[in-house]
Amino acid sequence: MLEVRNLQKQFGGLTAVKDVSLTVPQGKIIGLIGPNGSGKSTLINVVSGIYPATSGAVWFKGDDITHLSPHQSFELGLGRGFQDASLFFQMTVLDNTLIPVKKQRGERPWLAPWWRSWLGEEKQNANRADEVLQQVLLRDHINKPAADLSGGQMKLLELARTFMGEPDMLLLDEPTAGVAPTLAYNIFEQIRLMRDQFGMTFLIVEHRLGILFDFVDWLYVMHMGEILAEGTPDEIMANERVRDVYFGD
Ligand code: ADP
Ligand code: MG
Repeated sequence: MLEVRNLQKQFGGLTAVKDVSLTVPQGKIIGLIGPNGSGKSTLINVVSGIYPATSGAVWFKGDDITHLSPHQSFELGLGRGFQDASLFFQMTVLDNTLIPVKKQRGERPWLAPWWRSWLGEEKQNANRADEVLQQVLLRDHINKPAADLSGGQMKLLELARTFMGEPDMLLLDEPTAGVAPTLAYNIFEQIRLMRDQFGMTFLIVEHRLGILFDFVDWLYVMHMGEILAEGTPDEIMANERVRDVYFGD
């Protein structure tokens, strides 16, 4: 589904991502871990097109997306979440969920006045939003402004919103940051559900290894911009070099 080949990203004299290659197969949940400053967020930002690559290539579903904008990659089915929930706080939970739905007829200026042509579609979208919000345990809060949610609920709303865009694959950078442990576990259960039900594919940066290790199929470990190791959670936990740099023993 996703292939990163010899990717490099420099900021001035600093090489934040150094010759990184990795593969994410369809329908898998792949973890990306490593100490602070090892280049994880930079890698996600280059893959999603937020930062231009210095060199190397990114392939998604057989297309070279190295030089595409985040918007263009999203159209191809590659979505991403943000470390800080980027919600519209004045809008309701439901309206926040409806924003990313692709190709809404009511959004086209020449169709907007002809509401009969899009009312049915709008209802369908609202029904889907209702289902997704039920899945992430936010159904009871559907008409509240997003600002009234707890930090953990905001993360769940952001996840619901990324699901509504129906991506084939999601890049997530610390989806549980600042969330209480039980809710963090719930976020990963939603991720697994989306994989099991819709075959969605995930590449996830996460620092809570205890939770991450219960859900991932495969892990990549970054250190100083490079891939230090890859393997199953058990293999990574047993890897001496990973323990040295990551766990510090
Ligand atoms: P991680 O997400 O693994 O903690 P980052 O990808 O955020 O690591 O950072 C990797 C390195 O790149 C760090 O040394 C960081 O200071 C640097 N870096 C990240 N973003 C920028 C930027 N926009 N400009 C300059 N340096 C950056
Ligand atoms: Mg980061």
